[in-house]
Amino acid sequence: MSGQSNSVQFEEMAWPEIKNRIGSSAVFVPAGSIEQHGPHLPVSTDLVIAEELSIEVARHTDGLVAPPLNYGYRSQPQSGGGQSFTGTINLRGETYQNLAKDVLSELVADGAEHIVIIPGHGENEFFLREAVDLHLDEGGEGTFMIANWWDLLSEPTLESIYQDIPGGFPGWNAEHAGIIETSLMQHFSPEMVDNGEIIDDEAPRAPPYVLKPTPSDFIADSGTYYKATFATPEIGRRVSEDVVDQLTDAVRTEFDVNF
Ligand SMILES: [Zn+2]
Repeated sequence: MSGQSNSVQFEEMAWPEIKNRIGSSAVFVPAGSIEQHGPHLPVSTDLVIAEELSIEVARHTDGLVAPPLNYGYRSQPQSGGGQSFTGTINLRGETYQNLAKDVLSELVADGAEHIVIIPGHGENEFFLREAVDLHLDEGGEGTFMIANWWDLLSEPTLESIYQDIPGGFPGWNAEHAGIIETSLMQHFSPEMVDNGEIIDDEAPRAPPYVLKPTPSDFIADSGTYYKATFATPEIGRRVSEDVVDQLTDAVRTEFDVNF
C-alpha cells in the first residue's frame, strides 16, 4: 500500500509520507503538560487542548502535527497548583528546554522549514523560546512561530463569554480549570470531563506577586481557580473556532506554504 493518508498526524504515518509532506507544510508541535486541572478535568487537559487545536489548524492549512511534547515545565502554585497535587508531573526548566530543542532540531533535520509551536500550558513559553533561540544560535535552520492559544483568542469572543459572568474575566492565571478550559474539554473530549465534579472555586488570596515557598492560601484547594460551572460545550466550540481562524490567518501571513 502506498500514497497519502487523510491524517495530519505524524504518529499515524509511515516515513515516506512524512518525507513527501514535511517540507511543503507547516509542522505543528503541541506543547502540553501533565498537571492537575481540578476534580473534573484530566491531568492531560493542556495537552488535549493544544493537540486538538493543532489538528484542526493543520487540516485548514494542509499541515502536519508532530507527536506532542506531553510533559511540560513545572506547574506554578498560583496558576496550576505547583507541586502540591497528586498527578502533576513536572519537568525542570533545563530538562524541558533540552527536550524541546532536540525535538525541534530533529524536525528541521527531517526537512521541516516552518514550525508552529502551540503551548497548552503558559509556563512552557519562555523555555520554548529559549530552545528555538539556542537552535538558531547554533546555526540551525527553520522558521518558528510560538503561539499561545489564549493569546490568539479575539477580544470580542473573550468579552462575549464573560459579559454575563459575575466578576468578569479574572485573567489567565485564574482561568486554570475554569470556564474556558472546561468548555474546550466539553467540546473536544466530553467523555473526559466529570460534569458532576464541576465547581466554582478560587485561591483564598491571589496577590500580583510570587512568593516561594508559596503560602498554602495562594492555592485553590480543589485545583479549580475560577467559576467552572459556567462552562458549556458551546463556549468551547466558539473559542476553538475563533482560535483556529486566528492561527490559520497567522500561518498564511507569516509562512510561505501553500494551502
Ligand atoms: Zn491548563
